[in-house]
Amino acid sequence: MKWENLTSLDFENQAKQCGGVGIIPVGVLEAHASHLPLGTDLFVAYSSACRAAEIETAIVFPAYPYGINIETAHLPGGVVIKRELVFALLENICDEMYRNGLNKIILHSGHGGNRYYLPLFVQTLPEKDKSYTVYYANLEFFPGAEDILETTEYGHAGEAETSMLLHIDPDLVKMDQVPPMPFTSLKRNAELKEVGAYTQVDWYSMYPHMYVGDASKSTAEKGKTMFDHEVDALVTLIQAVKADRVTPGFVEEFNQRKSNPTTPDFWTSPGEGEK
Ligand SMILES: [Zn+2]
Repeated sequence: MKWENLTSLDFENQAKQCGGVGIIPVGVLEAHASHLPLGTDLFVAYSSACRAAEIETAIVFPAYPYGINIETAHLPGGVVIKRELVFALLENICDEMYRNGLNKIILHSGHGGNRYYLPLFVQTLPEKDKSYTVYYANLEFFPGAEDILETTEYGHAGEAETSMLLHIDPDLVKMDQVPPMPFTSLKRNAELKEVGAYTQVDWYSMYPHMYVGDASKSTAEKGKTMFDHEVDALVTLIQAVKADRVTPGFVEEFNQRKSNPTTPDFWTSPGEGEK
């Protein structure tokens, strides 16, 4: 259910009925070539979260466009939030969800550029002694794409993402404004990639126009297939999070142990099991 649609009177009860599970759909506002809306990633994350939460109940936080996306700052309409703010704001939101009875928080991203930020957010949470558990939904982008798409290079604003939007909200897709020709990675960072080097212009080196492949091949039907797969994967994840009786205990245990580091018996006493 959608957080913003609930009344204050109903919220407490619904949070309990959801097993304390809340979802934050994280996108960004950024250029998606010439034909998709700036909020594309947000729409994908939000719609799939809302659909999944209808199948396996959870409270979905309002569409949240504050991720990491400096890589599109050279094109109009993108909003880049300072990194410190991005981390602080998400922490603030998680704290507020917990204060309102949601102690299991799922971060569901619709934006590829969040793939380092959200895991880092989760990884560094023990710095703050939080009593809630955060689960990064590390799901496949465009699941099932290989089986149905005509192109093999189909990411950002290409056949896959355009198809998704055609399914979610066709009125927002301007097929008559699709770039006049397909775009293949310029691979200007290929030699560096080959030796494992990652730079701050990694994406820009490949796709400076924020367009991958050929969107003219997109259809709502293809979009529905990928969208349904994504929803299925998220439903499975919500179910596992609800059933998780282990991780919250580990969070508590780790928070206590880190304030008083001690030598585990396992290092020195053969036969002693380590919990
Ligand atoms: Zn996107």
